[in-house]
Parts: sequence; structure tokens; C-alpha cells
Amino acid sequence: MKYTKEAILDHAKKENVRYIRLMFSDIIGTIKSVEIPIGQLESALDGEIMFDGSSIEGFVRIMEADMFLRPDFDTWMILSWEETKYGKVARLICDVYTPEGNPSEADPRSNLKKTIKKMEKLGFSTLKIGFEPEFFLFKLDDKGQVKLDVADHGGYFDLSPIDGAEDCRRDIVLELEKIGFKIEASHHEVAPGQNEINFEFADVVEACDNLQTFKLVVKNIARRHNLHATFMPKPIASVNGSGMHTNCSLADEFGKNAFYDPKDEMGLSVTARQWITGILIHSKEFCAITNPTVNSYKRLVPGYEAPCYMSWSEHNRSVMIRIPATRGRGTRAEIRSVDTSANPYLAMSVLLASGLDAIEKNYPLINPINENLFALTNEQRKEMGVENLPDNLKEAIDFFKGSPLMKEVLGNHIFNKFIELKTKEWDEFRKTVTEWEIKRYINII
Ligand code: GLU
Ligand code: MG
Ligand code: MG
Repeated sequence: MKYTKEAILDHAKKENVRYIRLMFSDIIGTIKSVEIPIGQLESALDGEIMFDGSSIEGFVRIMEADMFLRPDFDTWMILSWEETKYGKVARLICDVYTPEGNPSEADPRSNLKKTIKKMEKLGFSTLKIGFEPEFFLFKLDDKGQVKLDVADHGGYFDLSPIDGAEDCRRDIVLELEKIGFKIEASHHEVAPGQNEINFEFADVVEACDNLQTFKLVVKNIARRHNLHATFMPKPIASVNGSGMHTNCSLADEFGKNAFYDPKDEMGLSVTARQWITGILIHSKEFCAITNPTVNSYKRLVPGYEAPCYMSWSEHNRSVMIRIPATRGRGTRAEIRSVDTSANPYLAMSVLLASGLDAIEKNYPLINPINENLFALTNEQRKEMGVENLPDNLKEAIDFFKGSPLMKEVLGNHIFNKFIELKTKEWDEFRKTVTEWEIKRYINII
């Protein structure tokens, strides 16, 4: 543990912290926060702060409206970009508890912790996660509204002066470093206005916390540059979308990478191959969680470096799971389908459960495919046993609904609430007449 209660109280005093945000995430992954003045910090650290759950998406249950926030001391952080004239603002990420003292069934972070317990029972100490979130920077108009006008016209790894958003990206990196992030790399992505910043991997809960913080920082600093940052998976149809490649590896009970086997021809252990198999087998079922918006499926199409086929390989980027070249401690699987609109806690919970399922049940292993899958026909892929990810949110919801594993991992409450929310979203979209339809039909029919 990094911080004790006393250390936090001490630090808050020394740094003149005046407000504390108690943060947690709702089912769709939006950060919610209850702000308290410094005088309440001690009782917050004792888990005594309550909020009304009935007003938060997914927490609704009239009979159990009162929820308690239990802060994770290790998430104590001064929000460097939010200093007020009265003093500093800090935050603590919390787990949500019921008045009876149990983790709330509606709390995504607690759900992930539950899945981690299952992982520990199977003999693994940690799941390490390294996210590669991509995002777009758009300009704002005079009224501060987002324009679909990108902040620059650079391309992959381009440098200034083409890359006009470079100052903004640099500022984001500096701010992240100020609050303790170890940045590995940041670069301009393939599409105009698109960026990627990679930070150091961490144990899965911390990695998800970091991602939530990362999104806050990116959005806030972009505003400072009069830009709007969006993690929407496919804001512009004709160019690459934004994914969130998820690098993962399990560690054994001694903390050693469980995916590495120097004796194997690919340097991969049976555990790694089982993990990959489990993820692939369940990928249609968890897609609604890892790619949860109508827009997510506009990204998962051929031709834009995003995967649409359920397969894995060492080098090939057309597949859903790629194995980066590093071996030894860094042996890992890169899951390429996940996008940045996912709730990271739930996404990691379903990925973890899917991988563990194959480890536990010893499924027959799925072999890698080294061909460029984009270059093959549907029939050829079918012959190779390679299936497609769902075409749209509706299909994804249907696979999700029919999955006993998803129901078990997420628990009845999140499972049902998620279906309800996403079905509503799909119905709303279904009733919309798009610009495409008008263009396509109005004159010819
Ligand atoms: N932007 C691509 C996607 O939608 C990923 C590009 C890459 O980093 O390989 O997944
Ligand atoms: Mg990228
Ligand atoms: Mg990558």
C-alpha cells in the first residue's frame, strides 16, 4: 500500500488541498464524483460518505438508494490541472458499498475485483494490463461547440509543423507526468487529428483507474488549447477509427510472467495459448462490453487497421489478437478489438473471465493464422474457421444476452441493466433516419 490514512491527511494539509472528489464509475463507464470539503476528508477515508445511488445510471434501485463510498487510499492524487484560488483539488477513487457493508452489485470496479478473486483461486497473482488509447482532437467553434474539423493534418508519426496539435499533446504528456504517469510514447496516429499516448502497464484495477484519469486529463488539457478531445471510436467515416489495444499477461503465484515458455517454438506457454483461446471463443459474447456503442461497429470494418475477424497471430495486424515480439517478462497478448468507449472495469472483467474460462476448462487450443485476413474472401476465412465479430450493436447485444458466462461474471444486476440500456440505445438509433439514407434513396425511389 502506498498511502495510509495519516499520510493522506498529512499530505492534504501540507499541499493546501481544499476539496476532494470521491470518484467512481457508472455502468457505462462515465466517471461520477461527489465533492467534499477538506473538513470531511477524515470521515471519507473512514468510508462514511454516502450518496444517493438512485440518480446514477445503473445504480437505480429505489429500495437501496443509499450507497457508501469506500476510497482506495492508493488512488490519492492531487488534480494538478484543477487548482482553484482557494487551494488544491484532490481525488480518491472509491468502491461502492451497500449500507449492509457489501460491495454494490452495480459497481463496475467491485465487479472486476470479484473476477480477480477467481483468477487468484486459479493460481495467478496478477493480470497486467497496458492500454493504448487513441483519440481525436477537434477544433471548437466560437460558441465552444465541437466542429468536425480536425486540429491538424498530420499522419502516422508525423512531426511539426504538419502536426499542429503537437503542443497540445506535449502539454497532455507533461500534465500526466506531473501526476505520476510514466509515459512510454506518444505519437500522431494514422488519421488527421488522431493521437495515441501510451503509459506504463499496471495491475488491472490500477490500469483501469489510470485510464479513467487519463481520459479526464486529455479532455481537460485539450480544452486549454481550445480543442475537443474525443474517444469516440469512429468520428470520421473515411479514416481510421480510435481503438484501445489492450496488452495483457497473467503472472503466476510467484509474480513471474505465466505467458512465457522459452521451450515453445513461439515462446508462448500453454497458459498463454489457453488465454487466447478463451478470449477468441467468447469474443462475440463480450463484444457488447468491449465495443459498447452504435458507433463502435463503424470502426470494426476492413481497411482501417481495426480487426473484424476472430483469430490470432504473431505478426499479422489484421487479426483480433496479436503477440508483440517481446519475450520473457514482457510476453503478452495484444487484444486489438477493444475500443475507448468501453467501461474499462467491465471490459477487463469479461476479458479476464473469458481467458480464465479456457484455462479452467482446458478447451482445445485455437491455432494462430499468419495470412492477411483482409485479403481473403468470406468463404476462404470460413474454411479456415475464422468468424467475424458482430456487425452491429444489436447483434452484439444478442450474443451477449445468450451468454451464461457473461451473466455469471457480471452478475444479474449489471447484466440485465446493461442489456436494458444498450437495447434502448439501439432502438433510438434504429428510429433515426441518417444522412446516408437520404442521399442513397431520396432521388431514386
Ligand atoms: N486505429 C487503429 C484501430 O482502430 C489501430 C492502429 C494501430 O495502432 O495499429 O484499432
Ligand atoms: Mg495506435
Ligand atoms: Mg498496438
